[in-house]
Amino acid sequence: MRKGLIFAVSAPSGAGKTTLCKKVVELLPDLRHSISYTTRPPRVNEVDGVDYHFVSEEMFVKMVERDEFVEWAMVHGNRYGTAEESLKRYEAEGIDVILDIDVQGAGQIRQKLKRGVYIFVLPPFPEELEKRLRGRGTEGDEVIKARLLNAREEIGRIVNYDYIIVNDLFEDAVERLKSIIAAERCRRESVLPQIKEDWGI
Ligand code: 5GP
Repeated sequence: MRKGLIFAVSAPSGAGKTTLCKKVVELLPDLRHSISYTTRPPRVNEVDGVDYHFVSEEMFVKMVERDEFVEWAMVHGNRYGTAEESLKRYEAEGIDVILDIDVQGAGQIRQKLKRGVYIFVLPPFPEELEKRLRGRGTEGDEVIKARLLNAREEIGRIVNYDYIIVNDLFEDAVERLKSIIAAERCRRESVLPQIKEDWGI
């Protein structure tokens, strides 16, 4: 069985990345969303164990000490991390996984695992970012300002990514992400182990 692929998707917050990732997971077979751990309190519509594993600061620090994260980062004053165990399980089961992570986390994964497909999602115009953040209505003014500042820095690291999706029309962005995943699934390295077994070559 082939190893599961890792798709790390980053974007400045407000680019529509989370909705995009969720939609594609819904549409494609054998693709899961990796559920991160975070110390951020849940938003009104979020469910523990579905959107995130919401944990206390103490719990998160313990997990860091026990080396349970393949990557973790402080984003907008909260900690976020990807558990190594679930990633390894998906890999072994041949299930592809989408990581919705920030640029720091994506960098750590790339360095550590030396594999993965790195995708950056951008809104069509800089002004669109603020509009979307405000439209979401889940964050206060201070938080929005901090996120906009952070966005500039994140976009500066776009050169580390393999693919860029401009999220102008949501349906088009979904098609682009699906196409990237489909193409990566056809890569020789992904397919050859199974072909060798089937054809005895
Ligand atoms: P939000 O609080 O809006 O859900 O997420 C804030 C940022 O944290 C987003 O850029 C999101 O991609 C990132 N993030 C979510 N989970 C993880 C994770 O496990 N690791 C890292 N490094 N970033 C994450």
